[in-house]
Amino acid sequence: MAKSPPVFRFAPSPNGRLHLGHALSALTNARLAAAFGGRLLLRIEDIDLARCRPEFEQGIHDDLAWLGLHFDGAVRRQSEHFDDYRSALAQLQAMGLIYPCFCSRQEVKQAVARREAETGEPWPRDPDGAPLYPGCCRNLSGAEQRERIAAGEPHVLRLAMDRALACAGADLSYSVFDAEGAVRRIAVDPARWGDVVLARKDVPTSYHLAVVVDDALQGVSHVVRGRDLEAATAIHLVLQRLLGLAVPLYHFHRLLADQTGQKLAKSRQSPGLADLRAQGVTPAAIRRQLGFT
Ligand code: GLU
Repeated sequence: MAKSPPVFRFAPSPNGRLHLGHALSALTNARLAAAFGGRLLLRIEDIDLARCRPEFEQGIHDDLAWLGLHFDGAVRRQSEHFDDYRSALAQLQAMGLIYPCFCSRQEVKQAVARREAETGEPWPRDPDGAPLYPGCCRNLSGAEQRERIAAGEPHVLRLAMDRALACAGADLSYSVFDAEGAVRRIAVDPARWGDVVLARKDVPTSYHLAVVVDDALQGVSHVVRGRDLEAATAIHLVLQRLLGLAVPLYHFHRLLADQTGQKLAKSRQSPGLADLRAQGVTPAAIRRQLGFT
């Protein structure tokens, strides 16, 4: 039987305008997909209903078309697939691996400050620098959980990381590939993330859950993303193991920095591709600038 071609995807979020960092990511995906004879999908990661906007989504399509990128198959919009994420949550729920957490951000912050004051030690941080969830809701009784949910109390769903790791099995490692096709194994320690959020207050998923479910449903075999998401891939591996999903190969590309050395980001108002286009910059110049000749 013929081997099916590799599947790559570019997965931007329409919560701002695309900048050069996105162009680098999309072009790297396209280059590797072409080199490996693969298909390249476009996925719109629009679970954040408050921050995602139709004009940003349109901007993604315009910018990618302007760069000369073409995608295979239908575009998947995450906001149209909440049932897929609900099923994955139900699976984890049946395994006893998730629990409702009623803490507000403020309450988590206060609990961390209290622990730091008690111990005189800094509370452990996750790889992104955020304090680990201190576990305030980890051991609520089933009755209390049900009562508070029934009363309509807002809550997120968290992964009980210690139980999850006990179920996920040993050898937590995944493969990283390079442009020449060489592959090496990377061992990970997801415990460093603590009890991550898998469903937000307003949507039945979080980035981590949606990305894992979608990569599997779309048959993505090669994930090409920035180094800023390398550490979070440990969480994705645990979820793939728990949900019985295939684990793709990964490639982490460099990040672009501005003049001050900071990573380009929508939140820092890095110039958008549309701004560059309006200034007369050409797609060919962008490709050259980013090292794609
Ligand atoms: N949607 C994510 C972002 O725009 C990327 C997701 C991924 O590559 O896994 O940063």
